[in-house]
Amino acid sequence: MPTFGARLRDITQRLSDAGVPSPHADAVALMAHTFGWEPSEVRTAAARDDHWPEEDPLDLDRLEARVTRREAREPLQHILGTAYFRGLTLQVGPGVFVPRPESETVAQVAINAACAATPGRDGKVYVTDLCAGSGAIGLAVAAEVPHAEVTLVEASEAAMVYLRLNVRMMSPDVRSRVHTVLGDARRCLHHFERCADVVVSNPPYIPTDAQPRDPEVRDYDPPQALYGLGDDGLEVPRAIVDEAATLLRIGGTLVMEHGDLQGDAMRAHVERSEFWRGAQTLKDLTDRDRMLVVTRDGV
Ligand code: GLN
Repeated sequence: MPTFGARLRDITQRLSDAGVPSPHADAVALMAHTFGWEPSEVRTAAARDDHWPEEDPLDLDRLEARVTRREAREPLQHILGTAYFRGLTLQVGPGVFVPRPESETVAQVAINAACAATPGRDGKVYVTDLCAGSGAIGLAVAAEVPHAEVTLVEASEAAMVYLRLNVRMMSPDVRSRVHTVLGDARRCLHHFERCADVVVSNPPYIPTDAQPRDPEVRDYDPPQALYGLGDDGLEVPRAIVDEAATLLRIGGTLVMEHGDLQGDAMRAHVERSEFWRGAQTLKDLTDRDRMLVVTRDGV
């Protein structure tokens, strides 16, 4: 039986040969998940070159099955069943978009806007997450802003299954301030007109002819969460901006993620309209243009 270190090296090599971008971290994560360990325990056992834990053929079979799936470039988060986003551990799998680190910055800007908003007479601020997917952004806002009431809108029934699971994993306090709506974020919400202090969205925005190169994205993220339609991928984002104009109260803030080359086009869209003022393009942690931030103007 190979030692722990030898097996970790072997799995890392296999994942590397399959083109996995972070083969060592993924090998550690798959081993930890299989044994119910922390990743640090795997690293320590490998560094000490411990003998393999009790020979449990079931564990070995499970590990092998998971490594084979990752070699086929199934997303690590689908294999583990979870994704991390800010302080949250979210359930994800086939049919829902895996939350990305760059959206953590988008969530931060929405959190700041919610904290800066003047609460109404009920002491609350109202936040709407359009195209909520697994709920990453909206649930982070609800978890981090104690007086936020958050509505999450998602059109896909498959994604809604994960969204509801993730709402159930929240504390009772957060859960009591979160509402989910199954529907098209572009046109379902006229009954909430002019109520929101903040609208946040990570809509689909990839142009149809710009297929992502990573198989994890191209083959596993749902296409309706990726492709924004129209010539430039911005048909859905523009419709989300227009819907946000209906949802926001005067002075409210829209925070919307977009691709790193789409900042000018999104600003141009809001600058053409009398509903908006103060459009800004903000960057993500890798210094790429990542989101439109704009204020609902008073007409
Ligand atoms: N950010 C996505 C990606 O990395 C693109 C689509 C989206 O987030 N809305 O593939």
